[in-house]
Amino acid sequence: MKLRPLLLPAGLTITGLLLLLGLASTADAPRQPGEDLLTGPQVPLRATWVGRRREKQDVQILVLAGHADSQAIEGAGTSGAAVDRRGAMPMDPKMRDELFWNRKIRDAVVRLGQERSLNISGYDPNALTIRDENDPRTNWSVGRRHHDAGGYALEIHFDAYGPDGYGSGLIPSLRRDPSRIDESLALNFGRYPLEFRGGLGAPRRGISILEVGKLEGNLEARLRDPASRDAVVEALAHRIVEAIEQGLSAPPPALSSQPDGAGSDPRGKNHRTSPADV
Ligand SMILES: [Zn+2]
Repeated sequence: MKLRPLLLPAGLTITGLLLLLGLASTADAPRQPGEDLLTGPQVPLRATWVGRRREKQDVQILVLAGHADSQAIEGAGTSGAAVDRRGAMPMDPKMRDELFWNRKIRDAVVRLGQERSLNISGYDPNALTIRDENDPRTNWSVGRRHHDAGGYALEIHFDAYGPDGYGSGLIPSLRRDPSRIDESLALNFGRYPLEFRGGLGAPRRGISILEVGKLEGNLEARLRDPASRDAVVEALAHRIVEAIEQGLSAPPPALSSQPDGAGSDPRGKNHRTSPADV
């Protein structure tokens, strides 16, 4: 941590931040395989899906903040380790810390994505508690309508601390075959099984879920520290936006289990996933 006073006041770049976190982390403790410098462990569960469905290049992307409409009721999200385990003050007394961070990441992803000419927008229900999940204003209702109109819907989450959480990773929408955006996010953050917890509410409605990481440890400390907060939110949003961009433009993942499959055919004009692919 000796480098921090040198780097932080000088206007920290994303690269600088990651370098700093890398140095700090290497100095403190060796990392486990599958553990990211910033976001911590990736989900270790076995998952075999591959996102091959190509979205339109200008697909409308909608970004939601998980638990935005379910505060003070079941499904409010995690309070994080700082609040629950160490008695820290919540970031905002009106909401669980997870929602506080989900909103920050959502807004940063939308802003960065728009700067980079993605067709991307965010949604907020503007009500912290909506008891009827089928109310037309909920994340779930808005996300489902967006999906059914041909868009890509992504809901940002942080996972629970301690043994209740699994780690960072992408849970794809269950309403269509996983897309290359899902694939790209999974390659960056980790891959949850398709039917995680029997199929969660959001994926069943066509919304992919991104667990950024467990709300504990280095990630939570860096977010809570006012000196690193903005840079960390920015770094995470960058990573998400770049993964989305790569998912929009990347060539299809190799179909290694099907040597003669369409994906390995350079002439393949039609890269759409057929049922046999999944
Ligand atoms: Zn959550």
